[in-house]
Amino acid sequence: MTMDFADRVERVAPSATLAISDLAADLEAEGVDVVDLSVGEPDFPTPAHVVEAGRDALDAGHTTYTPSNGIPELKTAIVETLAGNGLEYTTDEIIVTPGAKQALYETFQALVDPGDEVVLLDPAWVSYEAMAKMAGADLARVDLARQDFRLEPALDALGETVADDTDLLVVNSPSNPSGAVFADAALAGVRDLAVDHDVTVVSDEIYEAITYGVEQTSLGTLDGMADRTVTINGFSKAYAMTGWRLGYLAGPASLVEQAGKLHSHSVSCAANFVQHAGVAALEGPDGPVAEMREAFRARRDMLVDRFAEHGIDVPVPDGAFYLMLPVDRDCDAMDGSRGGDGEALDQAWCEGAIEEAHVATVPGSAFGTPGYARLSYAASEERLAAGIDRLADAGYL
Ligand code: PMP
Ligand code: GLU
Repeated sequence: MTMDFADRVERVAPSATLAISDLAADLEAEGVDVVDLSVGEPDFPTPAHVVEAGRDALDAGHTTYTPSNGIPELKTAIVETLAGNGLEYTTDEIIVTPGAKQALYETFQALVDPGDEVVLLDPAWVSYEAMAKMAGADLARVDLARQDFRLEPALDALGETVADDTDLLVVNSPSNPSGAVFADAALAGVRDLAVDHDVTVVSDEIYEAITYGVEQTSLGTLDGMADRTVTINGFSKAYAMTGWRLGYLAGPASLVEQAGKLHSHSVSCAANFVQHAGVAALEGPDGPVAEMREAFRARRDMLVDRFAEHGIDVPVPDGAFYLMLPVDRDCDAMDGSRGGDGEALDQAWCEGAIEEAHVATVPGSAFGTPGYARLSYAASEERLAAGIDRLADAGYL
């Protein structure tokens, strides 16, 4: 029998970030030493006090289902954390999810009907497009790459795109993959458009704790935004908890009511003991977060300097742990014999880099911006330096 798959699934591609890190893992299993700069996953262990809280929770028997939207202690800790960012939410306005990805998925499913318009700012993290498509959305995209990944110079273009029939706009600051942290003036521009055209905004703030000398502003704090913003956050990046799968959405109670139905019928709840570990992450010492942030900043500085030594100017990221390397340049490995323009070229660069230099990166086209490769610098300085040496030796810089 040939199964007849649903259009909504057939129209999306697998996650490019995860696919490339799987490829890197396959090569490593064959004995190849790969410098894996593909997936965005902190290379630090989860802070010890968080692990201990998870272990204690298991010992204490926290192994059952929890209330679907999360344990009260965690929802309270989340509300207090959000209040620290100037966001006013109550515990009834939170859903605790297995990862921020699930929070985003539920948000798209709850808000987007087939044919609704969803606006993305490119480069945009790979899963927004897939989630929008799975909800049946029509996508409109606004390019920030030509503006050094800044939003302010693209506000006019955004103004031409966002219209009364726009349903959802996705903002991710600090951004994966560009590392841009959008300025307050740019966010005010987003607010004006959202209010004028009655648009809901998804503000994915999962990298909010990872900024370098600049302040991240939560969109929901802006006048007129509280009841039209869904704030997404999670524990994977700030607390190095990718494998624990813990995140949340915060939004108006009406959204929580609708998304909560999807949540209870799909995942039931996030894992019980993991939620207890989450309380420890939010309420415990934040020294480990600061240490990781400083390490990421040192790595960013090193990468920017090393690329400059090779004559390559990279837009300096102010947050997250990614950097967009322009690959649409002359280099020995890409002497015109492969790739073409745009998408094909960055795909060819990334394929060559992993096959010949054994350095794994993600093509910019996966994020809607061909001509770049995304490097994750959630890797040690030694590995990053080795990665650059290998790329240079193989003619990719
Ligand atoms: N949003 C962005 C921008 C991300 O980079 C990620 C990384 N996976 C997520 C959401 C989801 O993170 P998680 O599901 O691990 O919480
Ligand atoms: N968000 C990370 C990345 O972009 C993890 C992989 C994923 O969830 O797509 O690499």
